[in-house]
Amino acid sequence: MADTLVQLADHVWIFPRDSDPSRAESQPNVGIIVTEKHTLLVDAGNSPRHGRRIMIALDDIQAPSVYNIIYTHSHWDHVFGAMVFGAPAVAHELARRQLGEMATRPWNNNYLLEEIQRTPARESSIRAMMRAMEDWRNFRIVQPELVLSQKLNLYVDSTTIEIEHVGGNHSPDSVIVTLPQSRIRFIGDCYYPPPSYLRSPEDTLDFALMRRLIRDDIDLYVDGHNPPMTREVFTRYANGETLTAQSLG
Ligand SMILES: [Zn+2]
Repeated sequence: MADTLVQLADHVWIFPRDSDPSRAESQPNVGIIVTEKHTLLVDAGNSPRHGRRIMIALDDIQAPSVYNIIYTHSHWDHVFGAMVFGAPAVAHELARRQLGEMATRPWNNNYLLEEIQRTPARESSIRAMMRAMEDWRNFRIVQPELVLSQKLNLYVDSTTIEIEHVGGNHSPDSVIVTLPQSRIRFIGDCYYPPPSYLRSPEDTLDFALMRRLIRDDIDLYVDGHNPPMTREVFTRYANGETLTAQSLG
């Protein structure tokens, strides 16, 4: 069965994260912005296989070809699907540096098994990567061609897309992507704690950063691994309330 996009506004969809919690960590939401003549993605999926599923779903809504991919940050699960789209990427300058370094590694399962030996705490993340990637042949990390250090606005046809660096504990290269006309803000993983292998017991969500993301003219927040949240729900979450699946909707 074809994967179903979730429509958030007139010209905005997501290819939703895998709702199976055991896999959700490695298959994030991918944002889809369709202008008159172009399609832009917010993140690229975790693998060429994931990317191809997104392509098929884009065909279903007759989306124009992908013009640009905005990486919210450089983690593999947001980037490794990019090669299938044949489109350039935009990211923070630190993400370009990080992805440039990652591109020098010999990507294959033997290399990853050695990585697990070197850093056992990364095992679950690396195993997830190996499950996501069916085949490493011809694999390539699409490097950002356009980078920002603080803010960058894209004006694509009649759509405004605001990209802003926020950093945070999860990944110092995190940016957020705001669509002022649709009142939607994509926030990636920016307010999450560091990746599990770098996490210490006292690490929490970055509540101060979450509160900085709240703006009255935003109706919907889309992060990397949860269902979209209304401003009201996200505000409660930022104020320390624990959200249940029900309140997340
Ligand atoms: Zn991440």
